[in-house]
Amino acid sequence: MSIYWQKEMETMNRSDLARYQAEKLRETVRQATKSSFYGAALKQRGLAAEDIRSLADIDKLPMTTKEDLRQHFPYGFLSVPRDAVIRLHCSSGTTGNPTVIFHNRHDLDSWANLVARSLFSAGARPGDVFQNICGYGLFTGGLGFQYGAECLGALTIPAGAGNSRRQIQLMKNFGTTVIHAIPSYLARLHEAFREMGADIARDTKLRLLVIGAEPHTEGQRRRIQDLFGVKAFNSYGLSEMNGPGVAFECECQNGLHLWEDAFIAEIVDPETLEPVPEGVVGELVMTTLDRQAMPIIRYRTRDLTRFLPGDCPCGRSHRRIDRITGRTDDMFIIKGCNVFPMQIEKILMAFPEIGSDYLIVLETVNGVNEMRIKVEVSPNWFTGEMEPLENLRRRIQEEVRDEILLTPEVRLVEPGALPKPEGKAVRVQDLRTREGE
Ligand SMILES: [Zn+2]
Repeated sequence: MSIYWQKEMETMNRSDLARYQAEKLRETVRQATKSSFYGAALKQRGLAAEDIRSLADIDKLPMTTKEDLRQHFPYGFLSVPRDAVIRLHCSSGTTGNPTVIFHNRHDLDSWANLVARSLFSAGARPGDVFQNICGYGLFTGGLGFQYGAECLGALTIPAGAGNSRRQIQLMKNFGTTVIHAIPSYLARLHEAFREMGADIARDTKLRLLVIGAEPHTEGQRRRIQDLFGVKAFNSYGLSEMNGPGVAFECECQNGLHLWEDAFIAEIVDPETLEPVPEGVVGELVMTTLDRQAMPIIRYRTRDLTRFLPGDCPCGRSHRRIDRITGRTDDMFIIKGCNVFPMQIEKILMAFPEIGSDYLIVLETVNGVNEMRIKVEVSPNWFTGEMEPLENLRRRIQEEVRDEILLTPEVRLVEPGALPKPEGKAVRVQDLRTREGE
């Protein structure tokens, strides 16, 4: 077996793992104190690395927010000299300062190792041909998977995002066996296969998909698996915690093992910041344990998930988190109801008659805020006949109403009618002139 089944670490018993984490946490606090941000924050609380005696002591440490990262942009979190840093990744920063994360050699090696281990857990092997269909550059999915797949020993194709015909050509030319892409893009890629009269099973060697960077439901995953005829594995990461390689589904596909030798994960109530009981959904809070250039302590990810109870048959002891059910800032309030886009997607994906794309539009009509859901009908089902469409429309409307206690307007549109952005899918368009009602 390859070195990317890191058995000793991946199957370590829970009490040894807790001791290991406590030791790494102490080290991390010691390292973080060298940055101006944590140096000041810990001094203010009278805390030092030696105060971390066990894992439970983590709650003495302050939480860190995206706002903290922005306010101390660019070097306030740097814990090594500037010339020891060899790479940065940063967010697009459409509002205010971007957030930037720095890595030294150790950090990049550690990250690549985590991605290699993740890919291996999902079934990728040295010798696979790995086509990375996502944006390279500042976005971490590009270089993150690139170095991880190289580290695993795969032949790696840095294909980049978009241009489906070229993607298909690359798949055919080099015998691609594994693809990484965002879920919304895969529906488009499949469409391109149809248009070219190509057949995935006949014309390619594809055997495995890795999907991530975009929240999606189990229904969306099943659809992707049905379209491509291979299994799709869920990847979770965020740039503040490197990027991909934070948590990953193993071959059992029953939640994502979060690599607890590299991170401490807590799940808290986003209002009170108190831990929620196991199995309850809350905000994921994460601490890096193996980063030198820029350790981050108790980072509020704004991602909502829960720890899954029980052991995984694969033998890995690292706890599993559920797929991300949304972000605390994705939630919108309309007519007094709190709604997460994933609640709507879950309902939509259960209808075989509809395609993979939908758009929730919030707008103010005659001074009242309304919600409209535009849904693409599946090309296999669409005939243009009115009566079945009207029945389908009404059934979707009723099911959404039962879930969110609010009756939306549902509009069915032809296959391909919704806008297809190059990057991540846009699921909610908020055009309201009266805020948050
Ligand atoms: Zn497992």
